[in-house]
Amino acid sequence: MKSYRKELWFNVPARRAFINITPQVEECLRESRIKEGLALINAMHITASVFINDDESGLHQDYEKWLEKLAPHEPVAQYLHNRTGEDNGDAHLKRQIMGREVVVAITDGKLDVGPWEQIFYGEFDGRRRKRVLVKIIGE
Ligand code: ZN
Repeated sequence: MKSYRKELWFNVPARRAFINITPQVEECLRESRIKEGLALINAMHITASVFINDDESGLHQDYEKWLEKLAPHEPVAQYLHNRTGEDNGDAHLKRQIMGREVVVAITDGKLDVGPWEQIFYGEFDGRRRKRVLVKIIGE
């Protein structure tokens, strides 16, 4: 069995953003030379997500509105977590609901996903360097 590991780095200039990382994951898959197997893609930070959905700007705005309704950033004093002196209590909650990782089947050297499925990095507390792990195993 072959095994491949790579860290993708991000430094999002805003507090929140959604970034389509499908091309980077496809590049990892090419580098791995794995044709049949599984790819795990996970955020390595507790205030960021990796998830799969449509690459459609209206949908991303809907996510932003929905997440702000569920866990508004302001007022930061509403979160017990922020008593530590941080201001990212909301980002931990947003990460939880959008998920930590995705697993994608690899078939015939390609990501075996549905027609509209794209892989996204969801940043909820940006303006610093953060990582995503790509682990691919197979033959
Ligand atoms: Zn925190």
